[in-house]
Amino acid sequence: ITDKIAALPADSNYFSLEFFPPKTAMGFSNLRDRLDRMARALRPLFVNVTWGAGGSTATKSLELAEICQRELNLTTCLHLTCTNMSRKLIDRALEDAKALGIRNILALRGDPPRAAEYQDPNENPEDAIDETFTYAIDLVRYIKKNHGDYFCIGVAAYPEGHADESHPQGQSLEHDLPYLVDKTLAGADFLMTQLFFDTDAYDTFERTLREHPSGAFKTIPIIPGLMPIQSYQMIKRTTKLSHAKIPDAIMSRLDAVKMDDEKVKSVGVDILCEIVEKVKEIKSRTPGPKGFHFYTLNLEKAVSFIIERSDLIPLSTPIEEEAIEDITSKIPA
Ligand code: FAD
Repeated sequence: ITDKIAALPADSNYFSLEFFPPKTAMGFSNLRDRLDRMARALRPLFVNVTWGAGGSTATKSLELAEICQRELNLTTCLHLTCTNMSRKLIDRALEDAKALGIRNILALRGDPPRAAEYQDPNENPEDAIDETFTYAIDLVRYIKKNHGDYFCIGVAAYPEGHADESHPQGQSLEHDLPYLVDKTLAGADFLMTQLFFDTDAYDTFERTLREHPSGAFKTIPIIPGLMPIQSYQMIKRTTKLSHAKIPDAIMSRLDAVKMDDEKVKSVGVDILCEIVEKVKEIKSRTPGPKGFHFYTLNLEKAVSFIIERSDLIPLSTPIEEEAIEDITSKIPA
């Protein structure tokens, strides 16, 4: 990913699209077609495949990653969590990723699993949860130690602070910062953020990181996470789970149309396009290409409108233009 970013013109934009593994074979088949359509139409720099905490989606995440990387030839970033996971499962995920040609891992802590997903360590000692993986930094160090520079490693960051029971005084960027510095210096190649709607909070976050005296964030790609607004209920639920604030000015625009699903989607696209423009302004302070990450929730329409209207689709190269002209000239009228 960082090689691809470095090869882009300094004034360009790029984006990634995140997908989660469906539960059924039919879901996989539908998502494969959708991914293919979206990749051709939108040209993401890379795609992300999520990982269920505790390894709950391990097989399905790898299956989806294989479709992305191998079948659709998309640069793929596999998410991997480390808490409540056995070392065997972490090793297998990394080896499987390697075998599929995947070079990018988003190294995460994850959250404790629900009771139904909890593995009993007594069942098989090899499957016992490895207590040495407490934080994401432990996974970053482990990947570096065992795989050197083979993987480009991303880590999570939280513009409004990470909400966690381990710091009951509340979420804050100040609390996370020393740990984010350590996690980055341990070998992270890029940062990817939690979703947000508050561009002032993002502005403070990016400025704080870029100016941090450690120098850890001076040039590292910081990729802001954005979630298209699919429905009034969904956005209420997601922001509650992610602890992202919705500024009053945005909430009142959604409240005004909340009884009409189509209007919510359309106002949602307007809101996201405005956020992209503000983030482009914020990012223009730092030289280099400007990246965006979209939490698609496996949906196609809203994210496609936002990317198109925000002018994020990269121009095709002259060789590709020639190929398209060649193909279209052969299509009968
Ligand atoms: P860490 O970096 O380990 O931080 C967790 C908390 O611990 C923070 O509050 C931090 O301040 C604190 N902390 C860190 N180090 C220390 C220390 N040494 N001492 C005390 N406190 C410390 N979850 C999934 O299950 N699957 C996914 O696919 C997934 N994808 C994600 C993608 C993105 C872009 C983001 C932002 C999150 C994603 N998550 C995913 C959610 C993530 O797993 C949770 O937010 C999790 O609670 C924290 O993970 P982390 O990697 O940020 O943890």
